[in-house]
Amino acid sequence: MSTASGNFESRAALALKDASLQKALGNFKPLFVAKRASAVAELADFEALRDRAAQIKNAVLGELDVWLERYAAAVGAAGGKVHFATDAAEAREIILGICRDANAKTICKGKSMVSEEIALNPALEAAGYKVVETDLGEYIIQLAQEPPSHIIAPAIHKTREQVADLFEAHHPGRPREESVAGLVNEARHVLREKFFRADVGITGGNFLIAETGSSVIVTNEGNGDLSQTLARVHIVTSGIERVLPTLDDLSVFLRILARSATGQDTECYTTISTGPRRTGDPDGPQEYHVVLVDNGRSKMLGGKFRDMLRCIRCGACMNHCPVYSAIGGHAYGWVYPGPMGAILTPLFNGMAEHYDLPNACTLNGRCQSVCPVKIPLTELIRTLRSEQVKAGLMPARQRTLLAAWGWVARQPGLYHALERFGIRLLRARAGHAGHISALPGAHAWTQSRDLPAPSGETFLEQWRKQRGGS
Ligand code: SF4
Repeated sequence: MSTASGNFESRAALALKDASLQKALGNFKPLFVAKRASAVAELADFEALRDRAAQIKNAVLGELDVWLERYAAAVGAAGGKVHFATDAAEAREIILGICRDANAKTICKGKSMVSEEIALNPALEAAGYKVVETDLGEYIIQLAQEPPSHIIAPAIHKTREQVADLFEAHHPGRPREESVAGLVNEARHVLREKFFRADVGITGGNFLIAETGSSVIVTNEGNGDLSQTLARVHIVTSGIERVLPTLDDLSVFLRILARSATGQDTECYTTISTGPRRTGDPDGPQEYHVVLVDNGRSKMLGGKFRDMLRCIRCGACMNHCPVYSAIGGHAYGWVYPGPMGAILTPLFNGMAEHYDLPNACTLNGRCQSVCPVKIPLTELIRTLRSEQVKAGLMPARQRTLLAAWGWVARQPGLYHALERFGIRLLRARAGHAGHISALPGAHAWTQSRDLPAPSGETFLEQWRKQRGGS
């Protein structure tokens, strides 16, 4: 399911011209990158933890069915219920059914990327429920009626002024706030009353623990805790790949998640929930449900993209991606942006419909160098491109050009003659400037940056010279 109109190229072009977006992106990037670097530098065994985390995930994925069964049994033993959903439609139906049975009217949501993935809010609203996002970023984009543009900072594309405008329009009777602290306080005040009225609380699940049947959420705002503790019914939405065997395993992931995501040693709140309220508990929900969503994950498990199921949704790959940093998340067209989205979106929603995403990558490799679970993102993107070519999805113009290049490359005499001619032509066009600012046929490149003039000799000529002419 796509959340945006147009193709990647047109959305990216719009994003590059959007002054507010460029300002917001300019503010965020240095912050996340620098904070992660210093948090990681302070933890001597960070690399060893990355290896351990990847090992744990690989072991679980190797027998995922076994761990899911153990997890479901442990949830049942704690008084909760696990529901398995094959796809987004089934997941929505299950959640609507739970809300119906609970005779719910108002639903508070903690942040959940799976609920974005299954387009839950529109389904709940269409069924007449009042849905309130309680994560600040999610609340802002809910007011703006926009999809998230980053997996851990969904409103990263909004400037402070734009948030002030939104709050002024949606919170009548309150004075306009301009400062960050004032805006946060305003949201806190408005949301507090919603938590107390909610019948159902829906949260995500960063991790699911098989030995105890627990779900774990990590947040910086505590909104997830209020969503799940105060409502009568708590629904956890999570992908099937999020299960970990033990709480000891969890400790490995908690040490790498916050450092990779926000550059903190730990998030402000780590909440482990196990089943509904028990006799004697001062608070907690009366019902506890976990909706485990497959939605294409089983297919990935048995294929070339299985490594992607190690993803813990930290956002580090997009924070370090030059493409994401230039165009933001909405240009990617779905809820998962950046390098992980360039792989997940075509796999979940179709390689043909999202042909451009893997092809927009520069393969610079920064994403995989920071991925806390060592997903070989660049390799997966390259594999995805090759799958697209095998499926005959490459545009005809590109196919013809590559075929022509391939034919010429097999005629060495002609190839070198054309190469020398091309170099002379480009050097003449560059003139004294040493760069080319407009080139027919290469407009897409030269409209946003200059093309450096080539050196006077071909690679082969330089090679021969270095080898004494041999
Ligand atoms: S692919 Fe790696 S870096 Fe990107 S969100 Fe997933 S875990 Fe984080």
